[in-house]
Amino acid sequence: MKKLYYEDSHIKAFTATVTGCAPADNGYAVTLDATAFYPEGGGQACDIGYLGESTVFAVKEVGEEVIHYCDKPQEVGATVAGAIDWDRRFDLMQQHAGEHVVSGIIFQTYGYHNVGFHIGADVVTIDFDGPIPAEDLPKIEDRANAAIWQNLPVKCYYPTREELPKVNYRRKKDLPWPVRIVEIPGIDTCACCGAQVQKTGEVGLVKLLSCVKFHQGVRIEMACGKRATDILRLIFDQNRQVSQAFSAQITETGVAARRMNETLGAEKFRSASLEKRLFAYIADGYAGKKLAVHFEKDLAPNANRELCNAIAGVCSVAVTLSGSDETGYSLCVISREADAKAVGANLIATLGGRGGGKRDAFQGTTSATRQAIEKYFQDCANRA
Ligand SMILES: [Zn+2]
Repeated sequence: MKKLYYEDSHIKAFTATVTGCAPADNGYAVTLDATAFYPEGGGQACDIGYLGESTVFAVKEVGEEVIHYCDKPQEVGATVAGAIDWDRRFDLMQQHAGEHVVSGIIFQTYGYHNVGFHIGADVVTIDFDGPIPAEDLPKIEDRANAAIWQNLPVKCYYPTREELPKVNYRRKKDLPWPVRIVEIPGIDTCACCGAQVQKTGEVGLVKLLSCVKFHQGVRIEMACGKRATDILRLIFDQNRQVSQAFSAQITETGVAARRMNETLGAEKFRSASLEKRLFAYIADGYAGKKLAVHFEKDLAPNANRELCNAIAGVCSVAVTLSGSDETGYSLCVISREADAKAVGANLIATLGGRGGGKRDAFQGTTSATRQAIEKYFQDCANRA
């Protein structure tokens, strides 16, 4: 079986003779005397496409055979036209070659090995077995793009048994002959079974997106080629929106966002101190009462508790309810003398809701109306 994808990685369509067809999961397993369909391997996903009228939804290498999983059967001995999904293949080749360039540069610079490689739906991740400071990313990216724009050849070859020991390729341990070598002169030499671009220029662009600690080393996220421009377009559009929202230059949105955060922090502090003064003023109105039931619109949960605490400082039992009949109420009961939990639990048992707490404080929610809650407390007072 001829592996056309190794002879020329840019074959998009081909004809071949069907050598086998057998029922398989979800369809048929078809073998050919030659194929341009790359099976999955080396971190690169398989090609998909068409064989005649049938859809090829997966391709796997089993022993020396490449198995095409198709939705329709093929006639053994017949000639069939194959067409691969080229956009998908070219994208995978761009990511894979970009990975070689970046891994080669990192190996040359730090001596670290690529210990994990994954082409995800959006980004590519590469794991290295040593630390790389995030500040180094622009330097690595510049070198990678320089190698791409030099349009270096990507040479794929099998050294003879005698040549192999003399090839200085990136590896953690020696591999048994035969080994397929992928070499980008001056940048990287590596054992690899992937379908590769012919020249680095085809990668177009490498964009390193992040570098975070991972096990003993780091995980770098990146995107190459069209993926890189797609991601950069998304990010640029987000930044444009931020720039408009903050009326800031597109290159100064970070400063504008930080300034806005500081303003927000100061405003939060100011409104918290105003709230505190307001709560003390409200509490004054309940001074000396046995039971205080107070309604407020839309307080934050902790503000509701603070208001309740302020009122409980001047009366026996404080009940605060924040919300509205439409949205329901969050409830807080605080008492330094009576059993706050019993007050809250009784209200919920009667009017519905949920909550919990201890003897001195209870918090919960109820969807009862203000009228029902006021009547409930009026009835309690009448019974007492
Ligand atoms: Zn590779």
